[in-house]
Amino acid sequence: MKKLAVLASLIGVSFMVNDGVSADLNRVAIAIHGGLALPRGKMTSETENDIRGALKNSLTAGFQELKLKNGDSIRAVVAAIKVLEDSPQFNAGKGAVVTSAKTIELDAAIMEGKERRAGCVAAVKRIRNPIFGALAVMQHSPYVLLVGEGADKFAEDHRLLMVEPEYFFTPRRLQEYERLKASRAKRAEGDHANRQGENRGTVGAVALDQYGNVAAGTSTGGLAFKIPGRVGDSAIIGAGTYADNRTCAISATGDGEFFMRSCAAHDIAAKILYRKSTVLEAAEEVIADVRHMGAEGGVIVLDRKGHLAMPYAAEGMYRGFIDQDGEIQINLYDR
Ligand code: ASP
Repeated sequence: MKKLAVLASLIGVSFMVNDGVSADLNRVAIAIHGGLALPRGKMTSETENDIRGALKNSLTAGFQELKLKNGDSIRAVVAAIKVLEDSPQFNAGKGAVVTSAKTIELDAAIMEGKERRAGCVAAVKRIRNPIFGALAVMQHSPYVLLVGEGADKFAEDHRLLMVEPEYFFTPRRLQEYERLKASRAKRAEGDHANRQGENRGTVGAVALDQYGNVAAGTSTGGLAFKIPGRVGDSAIIGAGTYADNRTCAISATGDGEFFMRSCAAHDIAAKILYRKSTVLEAAEEVIADVRHMGAEGGVIVLDRKGHLAMPYAAEGMYRGFIDQDGEIQINLYDR
């Protein structure tokens, strides 16, 4: 951290994250999140190692795409998110949370900042990597959002890798489901307090490529014990995911209903566009706003100059980026 601050002061920059790190990311940049962190008391060193390892692999996969000849931010975001979807540690792809009907329904979105094209899938059950489903919707359909069976069929028709729903289940999430089922009677519907760390682990990425184009993507299983059919902010453009070269790329995590009600991701972009806020100011204001509404959450925000902000209102947020030396920086709590 010290090294970054020194480098930043030498080159006269520019770039703040909420834990005080300053750096310049150069033209090519990538940052990721793995959702809000488990309460510290529930974190084991084994889980922490797994999470750090997956975040590192995700950043490496995304950065490799950016460094390729013609590498672009869309491919980088997809590559980074795929790694996290494949890891059982996160609430996305394999290892996602379980619904009240003991099913798994996945949401994902991608958006690019140059032409503001976007693709999203919601409540899908069979696409092995839902972020590929979102990408296919963006690239091969005139639509933005496909849901449920129609989205699964679209993915199948476009030859994406499909799996049986059982693929996504993990013992940890099944135990969580049983615990939530048992305590259901005691919980008021929509109670956001005392969630004890369920839901954690939505994943997202933002990237800036050599052409100055930004992109954002988010993938999640949504809320633990949600009723079937519930769709969160991750798959909603302007709520949990947004990208616009004029402003920035954003991926959010947290209590999705609040991010939808406040149009959080678009609000960050709007503050930058209309009010000339910095990335950090805009991101912090929006997180303060959702916090004020009663939510926990965080965002990663990257603009085309490489300014990055990663504020969150929670005990921790799994997050990482690659600095201007190509070094991987990962933080889980560190407030
Ligand atoms: N935002 C996600 C949703 O509401 C959950 C999360 O990020 O933890 O579906």
